Amino acid sequence: MRATDLLKNFLEKDISSCTNSEIYFALVKTIKHLAKEKRTKETKKKLYYVSAEFLLGRLLTNNLLNLGIYEEIEDFLSKNGYSLEKFEEMEAEPSLGNGGLGRLAACFLDSIATLNLCGDGIGLCYHFGLFKQVFKDSKQTEEINPWLDASGFLEGENKSYTVSFKDFSVSARLLNLDVIGYMGGVNSLRLFDIETIDEGLVKKGIDFDKEDIKRNLTLFLYPDDSDDKGRLLRVYQQYFMVSCAAQLILDECIEKGCKLYDLSDYAVIQINDTHPSMIIPELIRLLMEKGLSLDDAISAVSKTVAYTNHTILAEALEKWDISFLKEVAPQIVPIIEILDGRVRRKFPDETVYIIDKDDRVHMANMDIHYCFSVNGVAALHTSILKENELSSFYKIYPDKFNNKTNGITFRRWLLNSNKPLTDLIKDKIGNGFKKDPAELKKLKDYAKDEKFLNRLLEIKRESKKRLCDYLYRTQKIALNENSVFDMQIKRLHEYKRQQLNALYLIDKYFEIKEGKLPLRPITAIFGAKAAPAYTIAKDIIHLILCLGKLIEADKAVSPHLKIVMVENYNVTIAEKLIPACDISEQISLASKEASGTGNMKLMLNGAITLGTMDGANVEIHKIVGDDNIYIFGEDSKTVLLRYKQKNYKSEDYYLKNPALKRCVDFITDEKMKEIGDEKSLTRLKTELLKKDYFMTFPDFESYKETKDNALSDYEDRISWAEKMLYNISGASYFSSDRTIKEYNEDIWHLEERNKK
Ligand SMILES: *Cc1c(COP(=O)(O)O)cnc(C)c1O
Repeated sequence: MRATDLLKNFLEKDISSCTNSEIYFALVKTIKHLAKEKRTKETKKKLYYVSAEFLLGRLLTNNLLNLGIYEEIEDFLSKNGYSLEKFEEMEAEPSLGNGGLGRLAACFLDSIATLNLCGDGIGLCYHFGLFKQVFKDSKQTEEINPWLDASGFLEGENKSYTVSFKDFSVSARLLNLDVIGYMGGVNSLRLFDIETIDEGLVKKGIDFDKEDIKRNLTLFLYPDDSDDKGRLLRVYQQYFMVSCAAQLILDECIEKGCKLYDLSDYAVIQINDTHPSMIIPELIRLLMEKGLSLDDAISAVSKTVAYTNHTILAEALEKWDISFLKEVAPQIVPIIEILDGRVRRKFPDETVYIIDKDDRVHMANMDIHYCFSVNGVAALHTSILKENELSSFYKIYPDKFNNKTNGITFRRWLLNSNKPLTDLIKDKIGNGFKKDPAELKKLKDYAKDEKFLNRLLEIKRESKKRLCDYLYRTQKIALNENSVFDMQIKRLHEYKRQQLNALYLIDKYFEIKEGKLPLRPITAIFGAKAAPAYTIAKDIIHLILCLGKLIEADKAVSPHLKIVMVENYNVTIAEKLIPACDISEQISLASKEASGTGNMKLMLNGAITLGTMDGANVEIHKIVGDDNIYIFGEDSKTVLLRYKQKNYKSEDYYLKNPALKRCVDFITDEKMKEIGDEKSLTRLKTELLKKDYFMTFPDFESYKETKDNALSDYEDRISWAEKMLYNISGASYFSSDRTIKEYNEDIWHLEERNKK
């Protein structure tokens, strides 16, 4: 049946007498129906991608696109006087993720289904997600972000599991979201919740009783872990997730004929960072309960689980006090002790122990010893893991280590979010790139085609105009569409160095005051949430919002410079911002950003990267060449050496560079203190002067020089368009389809599923 006929059926009456909500839910039902029809039998071996986060973004239009019925539905609606956009905006974005790690999981699910591989995601169903960011008095505040009732896509499944904690047990409820590949297969995202959850527990903002586990377990992603109660709750969440996952996986494998010792013939489990690490002892425990010997259980699990490392920031590598694990799930503690004991007998090097001398369990260490694959997420990141952070492990297991450079799905980040650019590309090189991203390389043939380059510029202009309308309509932010749009959109973290960008903008403010005007007005756009307990990150948000206000009120500066921070940066807003970006800020301290994926989305949409030699920027640079990217700053070798020598003193840079000094001093200038909170601004300034752990100051000068070069190059519009073209075509490498093919060839070894 054609999609519109199905839709009409689900509407049950003539569309003209339906409410918007009736039409929205009929669209959802149509999608679900078609997804059901497209499902085919599972292959013997299946992938389980276990992750604390899945940052999916809205599903409606992406699903229509992937089903190949977008245009048909859009036509039908417009013939009846409706725009699809209206229904798109009715959907609440699922709040199941935080940043890049969760977005990666979502891109991967799309590619896995598109490539017709049999692989499900497994995670938790957080009722209020991370939080909704609201600015009050130029500061971030947090509110709940409810989304479940407004979605329609989630469906309950007839399966439930019991998870036993030390003193009580909870009953788990399984929910399902269809993952619809692009002209491909259909898989599932399986989300676990508890029966006894109580949304009423949340009183003010995002505060709730952290000890009432039976009622709070799945309320929030990453509950505040600045105290023991919060940390304990995170352990409860993690154990709940992996126990559900392990039970589900074993059930499905046994149903397919698995004899348990041959588990790895039926399942491969990819764990996304260390949040799901406890699945190792939990699976061993369950296999033993079902009759396997200890040795057989350990061997079966070690052949089944693979680990992806996402960070080298020491403070982000999870370590849990063993007392916490004893409090939450004492049943897995003896198993972890056995695993650690085996390591200790084999290796003299204390740094590879699972349990350290302070009785803390190092989750990554357990993963590396007992997984069959350990991968980093960009070439530089993997080589730093091998040579520095995890070198003692690399010596033991050289064959386990491998690189899988991250990718993004072009369906969401080009086809669905930038239709004009998609159509232009199609007109030049045909539709092939939609299924085979490598075809994008053909665009290079048009690097000297002025007519084509002018069309690229025109499309960028139109996207900027659309963004202006959107931001004005939704957040009352007014932008000058003829300015350069410079964007730094990502989680707020000191290592990502939004503070470096802010210092540049203060410098620009001074220059304008002195009459040195930019060639064209500059709009600096930020989008960033800070973790609720991360004080300095919130101080940086405060600084940026205050700078925005100060400049807005200064009639001499405001025509030339505008600083805005969009509220509640999420996938929906990213999809609007990215097509409109001219300059993509990827300015992390070299060695600290594992990969980045925002950098990939932006280049695919014709933004030019201004970045350090960090994460996937290194690979972007290699692909597009010196002329089509702006690289600045110290490289990772220099940075790593400086950390080793422990002799960095930010104050030295401050004292010998007057331009830098005046910018840093301005943070607590009288004008700023009038607008902002003196305590917060002073704290931030002191942090930079006394610590600056992420070494902002040494890169200040080269950042300024390089950024100014980019802004001046921007004025040669045709040569800028050529740079855009090389970036769009070079982005082909960063399709998550390529990444998933590599995971499958090197780690998963799944066969393709039959198509319908
Ligand atoms: C892609 C994406 C990220 C990751 O951005 P990075 O620049 O790689 O850190 C974070 N949040 C959202 C909403 C995204 O879409």
